[in-house]
Amino acid sequence: MKAITNINIVLIDSVIYDGVILVDDGVIGEFGEREKIQIPEGAEIIDGGGNYAGPGLIDIHSHAGGDIWFYEDAQKAAEFHLRRGTTTILPTLYYNMTQEELLDGIETIKEASKTGAGRIIDGLYMEAPYLNPKYGADVENNRWALGIKKEEYQPLIDAAAPFAKVWCIAPEREGIERFVDDVKAKDEDAILAVAHSEASPDEIFRFIPQGLILATHHTNATGDLIKYPEVRGVCVDEAVNFSDDIYAELIVDSRGIHVDPFMIRLVLKIKGKERIILISDNCAFDGPVPEEGDYAGVTDLNFDHAGEIAGSKLSLDQACKNMMKHTGASLSDVFRYASYNPSLLLRMDNMGSIKKGNIANIVIVNDKMDVQKVMFQGEFIDN
Ligand SMILES: [Zn+2]
Repeated sequence: MKAITNINIVLIDSVIYDGVILVDDGVIGEFGEREKIQIPEGAEIIDGGGNYAGPGLIDIHSHAGGDIWFYEDAQKAAEFHLRRGTTTILPTLYYNMTQEELLDGIETIKEASKTGAGRIIDGLYMEAPYLNPKYGADVENNRWALGIKKEEYQPLIDAAAPFAKVWCIAPEREGIERFVDDVKAKDEDAILAVAHSEASPDEIFRFIPQGLILATHHTNATGDLIKYPEVRGVCVDEAVNFSDDIYAELIVDSRGIHVDPFMIRLVLKIKGKERIILISDNCAFDGPVPEEGDYAGVTDLNFDHAGEIAGSKLSLDQACKNMMKHTGASLSDVFRYASYNPSLLLRMDNMGSIKKGNIANIVIVNDKMDVQKVMFQGEFIDN
């Protein structure tokens, strides 16, 4: 039995100040105000230092950790995120990889999920294979631009489903229905995401009954379908803003470059707190950071070797800090965007909040969301 004392407990809509959290056998037990919680004799006392405790962060979309891709060394990439408060992650495979590379990546990541820091891996996020090659990083390497062929995609589905929780699609790709049917045949719970797409609202909405409830890095790598030069087009961003069903992923970097701070606030206003999910989209293309211009000195963006932005260097703790900066979000808000909402999306109902009976994945932060200590499955990690 462990007792975390002298801690402010961050709940979804409120905070319990000067509280105590009991943890037993890897699970959250009683918690509440200090005077209301009986600490059992012999419990190991951990002084929370007057900091804040929230649920471990859940990063549904991350390609890399630090300087390494998940498909290269998933343990190392997972360690990077765990130290920064992420206790659940979906490593993400990208559509610039060949079928063989994807199959290798799937196996590497599955294997890593069984031990060590790799245990934070709770599935895969397939940002592949059938997206719109007009949008996104590393476009010239797209191997999946020509036609949708069962003999090419079925081995991926067989290897990845149901471990893969999310499959991205560009709904406008010809023949995408067959691919979706085959994903659902293997895993009826699979979540679909609209990604790297210029689909019309109707093309997107027809997949909602099949589980299209997620927008991959909302407002990034989407088209605008302009019909008349003087009229704003209606495309992916508008469809996602309109739909109450669809969660919007946001990459929130410190400079507000992936999503302008005004756009973040606009999306938050339209979608509401319940449909925002912060992601890292951490990448390791590792092109040089530009020395001049708007991007000079930026630490949480990733560049490809053409000097284009290609994902980020974020972990979710930093994304939360950035969200607080750009929108005035509270700790309750950012734990909602980076833990509770992802848990609802993924239907992981034993995590995502400080709740009795949940897995004891707990991150202790100061009031600025700087990570102090991370508990994973009831044990504090060294960080
Ligand atoms: Zn992407």
